[in-house]
Amino acid sequence: MTHPYDVAVLGAGPAGMAAATEAARRGAKVVLLEESPAPGGQVYRAAPPGFVVPPDADRRAGDALRAALAASGAELRLGHRVWGLGGGPLVRQGEAPVPFRIDALPPDGEPVTLEARALVLCAGTHERIIPFPGWTLPGVIGLAAATILLKAQGVLPGRRVVVAGAGPLLYAVAAKLLKAGSEVAAIADLATRGEWARAMPALLARPDLLARGLAWRAALATNGVPVLQAHAVIAAEGVGAVERVRVQPISGGAAESFDCDALCIGHGLVPATEATRVFRAAHRYARESGGWVPVLDADRRVSVPLLYVAGDGGGVRGAAAAPAAGRLAALAALRDLGVLDGRAHARARRRPALEQWRAAQAGQAMARMMALRPALVDAIAPETVVCRCEGVTRAEIETALDDGATEMNQLKQFTRCGMGPCQGRLCGEAAAELVARRVGGRERAGFATGRLPLRPVPMEAVLGEFDYADIPVPAPAPL
Ligand SMILES: Cc1cc2nc3c(=O)[nH]c(=O)nc-3n(C[C@H](O)[C@H](O)[C@H](O)COP(=O)(O)OP(=O)(O)OC[C@H]3O[C@@H](n4cnc5c(N)ncnc54)[C@H](O)[C@@H]3O)c2cc1C
Repeated sequence: MTHPYDVAVLGAGPAGMAAATEAARRGAKVVLLEESPAPGGQVYRAAPPGFVVPPDADRRAGDALRAALAASGAELRLGHRVWGLGGGPLVRQGEAPVPFRIDALPPDGEPVTLEARALVLCAGTHERIIPFPGWTLPGVIGLAAATILLKAQGVLPGRRVVVAGAGPLLYAVAAKLLKAGSEVAAIADLATRGEWARAMPALLARPDLLARGLAWRAALATNGVPVLQAHAVIAAEGVGAVERVRVQPISGGAAESFDCDALCIGHGLVPATEATRVFRAAHRYARESGGWVPVLDADRRVSVPLLYVAGDGGGVRGAAAAPAAGRLAALAALRDLGVLDGRAHARARRRPALEQWRAAQAGQAMARMMALRPALVDAIAPETVVCRCEGVTRAEIETALDDGATEMNQLKQFTRCGMGPCQGRLCGEAAAELVARRVGGRERAGFATGRLPLRPVPMEAVLGEFDYADIPVPAPAPL
């Protein structure tokens, strides 16, 4: 069944909640689709029903956005995994664009297809983890993924945890672990003291964020947690699960070992561009924004008519900048649909444009800290698995490059790297860097063409009762 919405919003993080609220409050017919059971996104992830979570700054900010959304009149479709996108410009050559088509799998498993005249993508980011020996051992989990365990499940990743990688999430996760009862064995921060010092001026513009960061550091100092600046994890070791982690200064030198039963590690965040790639929008490589990003105008329009991107999916700028970006995208959609005239749009966009710019300064400094560090890719050993879905090692990738693969789609065809359930979300960054080293840069290495499904879905849920005999056989072409 199809529903002609004015605006569909994909993703109910801070950007998506604000976009849907803005568009619905101004009279548009809006649907917001989110795969989680509650709105909030990664940063404002709501606790499961029945969990009592003491209010903190994140909880209050999330609740304010949720309350505005509930009052806005936007239709919320929670637990809806969006796996297919179509329509819009994806029509046969020469045909006029049609409404966007959105295929989703709701919790009851009965697939739905919706239609919307404009589509705002607010899908956020994926975590970047550059492979190292032992990274596939049980007990090694993503730094950002650890926040999901802690927030959505109330589960500790381990009793004694090493926290490693880059960016503010390191200290946020370590402080949360301490509060929740884990021991933090050590923090291995890739950033140097100088990098943090250079980020300070941007952070001073957001005293609230700075105060929070200082409180995390104070909690670590009080608990005697060793914080190793400019250090990288070189191996996770153990039989059947992680038992210890080896850490080394990035400049070389003696490695230290820390016993632990979990390693939370993350090397930054990568904008989720699967949907804009499906629509063949223009992209550019922006290392300090997290990687490939869609080309956006000041109002978050992409190169495809009536398609918009807000939040970290358009380049990592953090949670504080996301709501203003969502409002800008919604206002642009209403302008393009003719709901707002030029003057009303110019007036309405002024405040979110300023808010976005201000918040993005601190976000950009943090994104810079989380940008991909080439030395980690150089250090990947030949026998280390890069694509864990398909079991492809660095050595196999190098062989494919020797054999003539010159960009990401060819690498995928030669090795199956990125063809598994994660569709390259986990291995794509490391694999692309390996290609880039041979062909002269990430722009040349390109990215895997956007393909459906956006998320793994069971075939029977999408096709229903299906038999091979049901496949229509086209008549033979006339000779
Ligand atoms: C795993 C993870 C944990 C993070 N934890 C923190 C944290 O604790 N603190 C912090 O400051 N920052 C955190 N970040 C960074 C933070 O997400 C962003 O800075 C900020 O939330 C960006 O907001 P957003 O609205 O752009 O995206 P997000 O908040 O990421 O929201 C995107 C939403 O889109 C939904 N979505 C994506 N694809 C689909 C689909 N196909 N179908 C249906 N729904 C979909 C997701 O479920 C998600 O709710 C985390 C990032 C990640 C990846």
